[in-house]
Amino acid sequence: MLHEHNHLINTFKTALERMPGEEYKLMIHPDHTPSREHERRYNAPLINEVAALVTDGEFATRDIVIEARNDKLTKVAETHKFYDALQYPLIFSKGQEGYHFKIPLINPETGLSLLNKKVSCMDFYAFYMMSRENDFNMLLRCRQLFHQYLVDMYVKVESERLRYISLYQTKLRAENYIHLQDAVANDARVNPNDLGRMVILPSSFVNSPRYLHEYTHDAFAYVRTHGRPDLFITFTSNPAWQEIVDELMPGQKSIHRHDIVARVFRLKVKKLMSVITKGKIYGELKDKLKPNQIDNIISAEIPDPSSDKELHDIIVKNMMQCPCGPHNAHVPCMKDGKCSKKFPRKLQKETIHNENGYPQYRRRSPADGGQTSQWRLRYC
Ligand SMILES: [Zn+2]
Repeated sequence: MLHEHNHLINTFKTALERMPGEEYKLMIHPDHTPSREHERRYNAPLINEVAALVTDGEFATRDIVIEARNDKLTKVAETHKFYDALQYPLIFSKGQEGYHFKIPLINPETGLSLLNKKVSCMDFYAFYMMSRENDFNMLLRCRQLFHQYLVDMYVKVESERLRYISLYQTKLRAENYIHLQDAVANDARVNPNDLGRMVILPSSFVNSPRYLHEYTHDAFAYVRTHGRPDLFITFTSNPAWQEIVDELMPGQKSIHRHDIVARVFRLKVKKLMSVITKGKIYGELKDKLKPNQIDNIISAEIPDPSSDKELHDIIVKNMMQCPCGPHNAHVPCMKDGKCSKKFPRKLQKETIHNENGYPQYRRRSPADGGQTSQWRLRYC
């Protein structure tokens, strides 16, 4: 099938037939407009992209290497438009194009390309990950290979951002860090020979050390001004959510489609935030919670099935774990023969407010009106 349909394989075969000797140079031309595409959709670049990109040694590029019979190696950079097709021949069996720097951004209303604006790496792959009606999307059917592809392409997205930051240091006002540069240069422990070209990563670069540092400081500032938080809400994703299951293709499980799990999770988090802030299920949340309000908001008990069967079933199914203890020492919470999470907690008739910010929640015994539940342990 690949020999019949993959134009890259055919290009290689033809090239090898024409140049049987050991001295040959194989180039994949990035500068031709793909067939059946509008000629203005892809601008032919003026330079040879392969050569221009291979010379860039500053970034950890993951290249495809074409090995000639005389053991000479030719690199194909990850930003080459046929990188994806060469790395994932079974996904792009016809040798389709991946991302490259020259894809013009099109105004969806006029259909004209926007001057000097190019499609970003992130936008390109986000577009191809999307499932559309009446559109056969091969990617979404590739399961583990799809994951590998996504991770691989995300590294490409991140490298593109880093490349931008490195190239536009003046625009990002990196010279403001001149004192930092001086400090590093004058540090006796730093060997000047070890110093490369310094690139300042701005704090807006998501997940960079300075970005995280800034958010940590923000969190401290909130606590200084408003006191300790009353609610620390954990929201976990459930792969069995109906919204996820409904979108799976025949034969797929939710682990094959992290794209759907992530999207549904994000929508549900946004909904939860709106239920709290606009729906005000916890009230106005203007003042600190009073100890007598805690039981209305937080419950560490099994709900009463006669008053709320649905909630009872959710809690019993999702929130109860294997009992830990000496009889079950292999469960992860067990450390040195004891539960590191302090389970089982002792029964508690009323919620007690603690000065350290961790109240002792009400866990009533059956004699005080608490619920019990029995179920068969499947995983213990
Ligand atoms: Zn435990």
